[in-house]
Amino acid sequence: MTDFTGKTILVIGGSRGIGAAIVRRFSSDGGTVAFSYAGSTDAALALAQETGATAIQSDAADRDAVIDLVKGRGALDILVVNAGTFVAGNATEADPDAVDRMIDINVRAPYHAAVEAARSMPDGGRIIVIGSVNGDRMPFAGAAAYALTKAALQGMARGLARDFGDRGITVNIVQPGPTDTDMNPASGPMSDIMHGFMAIKRHATGGEVAGMVAYLAGPEAGIVTGALHTIDGGFGA
Ligand code: NDP
Repeated sequence: MTDFTGKTILVIGGSRGIGAAIVRRFSSDGGTVAFSYAGSTDAALALAQETGATAIQSDAADRDAVIDLVKGRGALDILVVNAGTFVAGNATEADPDAVDRMIDINVRAPYHAAVEAARSMPDGGRIIVIGSVNGDRMPFAGAAAYALTKAALQGMARGLARDFGDRGITVNIVQPGPTDTDMNPASGPMSDIMHGFMAIKRHATGGEVAGMVAYLAGPEAGIVTGALHTIDGGFGA
């Protein structure tokens, strides 16, 4: 446990899966947490009720909405951008609008959210984006555009770390491997194939990923920036 009492935290995309685990972790560690969601209203309201966090409906595919969301929370101590989608399929057959929407959510939203947050963030603030081990390794066909989005975050973190470093604001990417969520259920049809690439052959839990986020957001990680933090059971090893 890390004490986040007095910290103002926004999790973009927090209604389900890894995002919900991050909301739970920060809330139970004393933070003042708000989270956004797009479509899962019932899950978002239940999580807000459970944790005391504030749920805000806001589509991460809409740049102006992302900027307004961040602005509306005032000076954030910690920003986590978790919202992400996975569009899979043969690249020559994928719907280009679906691919572009994924790029909006997975790449443009983290960039604009991070920049907007940094405008009012106090010195020592934390920006953490959930990438993927697929930013480093893409061993399957059919996910080129997804890998593109997660690799893009790596360059963003390196650059923004330089931009904000003089204020002690850190920018980091957490790169999960297979993690048991609606997006990638441990009981799904691809599980055995994914586990075949791993040294520890199981899906992570959202709580395990949230633990790494809490470390990066906490007082021990003030010198950790511009870096990629992979938590993948050896998927990319
Ligand atoms: P889920 O699909 O289980 O949950 C996605 C979350 O993001 C939901 O809370 C969803 O909210 C939110 N979200 C999606 N689109 C939008 C949007 N347009 N605006 C606002 N919120 C949005 O995914 P995971 O928890 O599995 O994934 C979370 C992150 O982790 C993603 O970035 C994903 O790429 C990454 N990741 C996941 C891995 C895995 O194996 N699960 C592995 C590696 C990376 P709502 O339902 O309300 O729309």
